[in-house]
Amino acid sequence: MAKQVLILGGGFAGLAAARALQGAPCTVTLVDHNNYHLFQPLLYQVATGELPTEAIATPLRPLLAPTGACFRLGRVLAIDLAAHTVQLAENATLSYDYLIVALGSVTNFFGHADLALHAFDLKGVEVAEQARSRILYAFERAMSCTVASERSAWLTFVVTGGGATGVEFTTALLELIQILMRRRYPKLQNTPPRVVLIQGGSTLLPSFAPSLQAAAAAKIRALHGDILFDTHVTAYDGLTVQSVSAAPLPARTLVWTAGVRAHPLTAALPGADSHSGRVVTDALLRMPDHPEVFVVGDGLAPRHQSPWPQVAPFAIESGRYAATVIRAALLKQPPPPAFIYRDPGSMVVLGRYDAVCQIDRWHIRWRGPGAWLLWIGLNLYRIMGTRNRALTLLDWAADYGNRGNAIEIIRKK
Ligand SMILES: Cc1cc2nc3c(=O)[nH]c(=O)nc-3n(C[C@H](O)[C@H](O)[C@H](O)COP(=O)(O)OP(=O)(O)OC[C@H]3O[C@@H](n4cnc5c(N)ncnc54)[C@H](O)[C@@H]3O)c2cc1C
Repeated sequence: MAKQVLILGGGFAGLAAARALQGAPCTVTLVDHNNYHLFQPLLYQVATGELPTEAIATPLRPLLAPTGACFRLGRVLAIDLAAHTVQLAENATLSYDYLIVALGSVTNFFGHADLALHAFDLKGVEVAEQARSRILYAFERAMSCTVASERSAWLTFVVTGGGATGVEFTTALLELIQILMRRRYPKLQNTPPRVVLIQGGSTLLPSFAPSLQAAAAAKIRALHGDILFDTHVTAYDGLTVQSVSAAPLPARTLVWTAGVRAHPLTAALPGADSHSGRVVTDALLRMPDHPEVFVVGDGLAPRHQSPWPQVAPFAIESGRYAATVIRAALLKQPPPPAFIYRDPGSMVVLGRYDAVCQIDRWHIRWRGPGAWLLWIGLNLYRIMGTRNRALTLLDWAADYGNRGNAIEIIRKK
């Protein structure tokens, strides 16, 4: 009987693994609790009304069809390493000969239940749409407010986390607000909205060069955003943001981009780091004492101090690599050389027509419209599915060509 390869998660890593196993002498099944692959790097654009959800979510069945892998819609509840089985919430048990754990990461609220309850975390399409609805709803509420302090709280938007997602979201939000103020809510000119980016450290974009960090901060300030450095948010009740070093900040919207940790099922595996939940594997990305189990993507911990970022290119590389090891084992061939990740570089978009780009291996530091065009091209290339690409291109053309053409639908919860 053909060996069973089970892939948990149809994100960047899981999908790359399924694709790389095409034609291997095994049966491949990919399980995901969503029936779509989500292009998370553009989630912030759903939250700021630049793109519809349909542009960044691609159904998994058609994506997997050419690979020969089967898709199984199901929520993974537990992994039994001893029995080689995976338990699904839909009352099913799947067995495997090889398992690839590609469940990604979850938002880290650092134990603050109040933040988890009241903040938007941009980790899925539902929350991104809720965030967009909240931003638009805040403007509507501000229009009907008779109390100045309440109006100002509705028009204060706080973003925590000065990494790539926080910076991209903040600049996009500031640009959205400019459009809304000019075109839809000119009557609010007397209470200008406020966007505050709160960063725990002393710079934005910590992994970037100082010149690009400064460029990101300058851009946010040029768009009339505020930045609070060295500030840690400690509590939020939906009304006021509390932090260690700044005064309480009344705000009805808080977007949390301040950290992730590995998926709880990954974090529960032996060898998981207690802080990040990421699993330390051997050089072939296999779990200690379980050479048939691979951990890839956001759940994989760096080895030997090497910086393994939780980003899409790393997830894709590690997923592909695990598939190569399995293919070699199935064909009774020697395994490939140890996994090495070569960082292709990072980009962060700073609103329309502006981005920063850093490629360390070529000592490239780049900022401006050229970097933005590269970012546009790269994302169009990386989005899965022709329909999604076309939809994204069309939306961007309308948006950028028309200097702002936001999706202004408020969805009720
Ligand atoms: C807002 C945001 C912006 C980002 N921007 C960038 C960027 O600009 N560039 C970049 O390179 N990276 C970016 N990233 C990071 C990048 O998206 C991740 O590193 C990448 O998605 C990790 O891939 P993965 O396959 O490990 O996990 P994911 O892509 O998260 O895939 C995990 C899969 O597991 C599924 N799953 C989870 N739990 C279960 C369960 N219990 N049962 C079944 N299925 C389950 C999920 O539905 C998902 O399909 C961003 C992330 C976010 C959230």
